[in-house]
Amino acid sequence: MDSSPTRVMVIFTLLGAGAIGGFGVHRLLSAEYGIASFDFFVALSFLSLGYYTHKTGKDGLARFLSAAIAAVGPLVFIRAFDDSGLYWVYSSTIIIYYLVPYRWAMGFNAVMLISMSSIFWDTIDHGGQFYSFLVTIGLINGFSLMFALDEERSRMKLKALSIRDDLTNIGNRRAFSARILEIINKNKRYGLNACLVCIDIDKFKDTNDSLGHRAGDTAIKKLSSFITGMLRESDEVFRIGGDEFVIIAEGADQDSGTQLTEKIRQAVEEEEFIPGRPLTISLGASVLKDTDTPESWLSRADEQLYKAKSSGRNQVYFDGEIIPVNG
Ligand code: GH3
Ligand code: MG
Repeated sequence: MDSSPTRVMVIFTLLGAGAIGGFGVHRLLSAEYGIASFDFFVALSFLSLGYYTHKTGKDGLARFLSAAIAAVGPLVFIRAFDDSGLYWVYSSTIIIYYLVPYRWAMGFNAVMLISMSSIFWDTIDHGGQFYSFLVTIGLINGFSLMFALDEERSRMKLKALSIRDDLTNIGNRRAFSARILEIINKNKRYGLNACLVCIDIDKFKDTNDSLGHRAGDTAIKKLSSFITGMLRESDEVFRIGGDEFVIIAEGADQDSGTQLTEKIRQAVEEEEFIPGRPLTISLGASVLKDTDTPESWLSRADEQLYKAKSSGRNQVYFDGEIIPVNG
């Protein structure tokens, strides 16, 4: 149990089991054995879900089933015992929004309210009390939904920020790690061609030293959008370090990968990123093998980049071969 949502879920199930179990003990002491058994059954269900979450490290099932218990529990209680189960509908509504994505929560709550209304339909006054119940439960649903939507929006925004590189606005190392894993898994399932290209700006420290960090930043930004503009939709570029980029070209074999890398190298050499000062890049590339892990593929491409650097820079090495200028 490492991640915090899992830990929170275990704590939630323990608290749920403790709270309902407490009621069970009280009912037992009051000799209300039927309700006590129901409470202990619910408490035990929470404990089992907590144990399962703790053991597997996965909180999805526990969230879903806990939401189901929260929705159905009050109904069963009202049907089998007494109307005091109605009080639980309020807390259940909020708990359900906390546990599952808001679309599921709306569904669970709708089922709970429709069933509740049908249980009480013949006995309710259809006036003051019922109206108050509908308005208050409607308000709780509405505001819970607003909080859930706010939370979802912030989560998506944070996720988007966490995978973007601040300077260039392209994917960062985290985005790259996710994408390379996706490609490797896709290859295992369906088989595909793919090339990984490591790019590093040549002697970029000198550029920074003579023109300043800000001019260096501008060059990195320009280079990033320049490379992005040269790629097809199935290719993606990431900034994984200071002056280091990688391209994952899905669908590219050695031939098309070779053309792509040399085209980029040459175009960068010809473009004026910094007025009056040449800027070149070295590239190392490797095609995906069926036995590759993200690490093995990246380290092979990185070795190629190292060769391109150590044998003079401003050139491409592709799986052990230096690519002659102009392909
Ligand atoms: P080479 O790669 O050709 O071996 O030489 P290099 O001078 O480029 O050396 P290296 O790639 O090891 O160093 C990267 C340099 O890039 C170091 C630092 O001056 C610069 N750099 C790294 N991150 C940034 C950044 O975010 N902005 C700017 N302006 N410069 C950066
Ligand atoms: Mg460099």
